[in-house]
Amino acid sequence: MILTPQQVKENRQLAINGGHEPCALPVEDTGICPEAADAVRDVVLSKRTSYWRGGPQAKQLEHRFAQLIGRRGAFFHNSGSAALLTGLYALGADAQSTVAISCSGFVSSINALYHMRSRPVFLPTNHETFLCEPDVSAWVDDHHIDIVLVTHFFGNVVDVESVRRTSGAHYLLEDASQALGSVINGRMVGSWGEVATFAGSNRKLLGAGQGGINVYDDEIYGERMRIIGHHGKGSTQFGEVPGFNFRGGEMEAVLGLASLNQLDRKIDLRRRSAHQFSSVLQERGIVCSVPPRSLDCTVTWFDTAVLLPLEWCGERDWLVRALELEGVPAWYYPSLIEMPWVKPWMQSMGWWGEREEALLRQEHELWSRIFVVGSQMSPDDAECCGRIVAEILTREE
Ligand SMILES: *Cc1c(COP(=O)(O)O)cnc(C)c1O
Repeated sequence: MILTPQQVKENRQLAINGGHEPCALPVEDTGICPEAADAVRDVVLSKRTSYWRGGPQAKQLEHRFAQLIGRRGAFFHNSGSAALLTGLYALGADAQSTVAISCSGFVSSINALYHMRSRPVFLPTNHETFLCEPDVSAWVDDHHIDIVLVTHFFGNVVDVESVRRTSGAHYLLEDASQALGSVINGRMVGSWGEVATFAGSNRKLLGAGQGGINVYDDEIYGERMRIIGHHGKGSTQFGEVPGFNFRGGEMEAVLGLASLNQLDRKIDLRRRSAHQFSSVLQERGIVCSVPPRSLDCTVTWFDTAVLLPLEWCGERDWLVRALELEGVPAWYYPSLIEMPWVKPWMQSMGWWGEREEALLRQEHELWSRIFVVGSQMSPDDAECCGRIVAEILTREE
């Protein structure tokens, strides 16, 4: 039986209630491979840590990464957020475009859309996967969708083919930042969209420490990304468009390459840790994110998302704090439509209506009851975290 917030708050043994000293959090894998230290040193000794359009290490990383995902090309950026922006730009997003975007995702994707000045059409979150609903036809209704941007959040996989079809979108952009190593119908996540983004920042499996990488098949997209990521400059000194400096550095590329050398082992570890954590919870009747039933897929979990019962509305943040003091690194994400600036912005553009208002309520009701625990810890630690959560939240009947 899952306890009510009142019952849990009465638990005098909890550290948050002064029951004991706060517990230490488990060691989490940042993704950085210490084995790369010598190679980073070599880059430093070369006195050249970045190159126009990428140095030798960045080029090698791009080549290997594209092969890994099964794509023709890749462009290494200085962040995953930068990569989302160039990805949208490459697919033609501008002030005349309409981009369908999953409410389920990291703030970077809606930020990127804002900066491209495109109109967002939000897509709702499924209550079992906590990802974009596979059939979004009712949500795009009379809009002509140019691009659909979906996030394989938590490493879990979106039914991208269904979303592409039912949105009627011309192009698909996958935010696969958290889903390196997840597979749909035998194909790597990131191989489905015209462009797909991976992040290299903290805890991501592409352990570059900082960085992002876009993969694609059509070199036209690659060139467009490189131009906007290099101050808008193509082959001359005159900028074609107002661009940015988004290229990835050599030290980060070296770290990314080292991480790829260990990818299989790291994927296996994360899958085992997530399984240990979620199976303890599921045995006690606690709801965790699951892969979509309609897909043949293997998920490399980045986070396990946990859904609290309805009476927990408004109490999740207290629980996250309480769990942290018990040694469980819990965290949460809002729905993208909930970002406080989104509604005023869309209202000012005349894009906010009853549909958005209803979706905002519906999304808030779901995401305010979700918390996540990462898979970047040992399977033993993950099992221990699972037990702590289960013990706090449930009572055996
Ligand atoms: C980490 C992340 C990004 C981009 O992150 P950066 O910190 O800018 O590299 C984008 N989307 C998702 C889903 C992420 O988890």
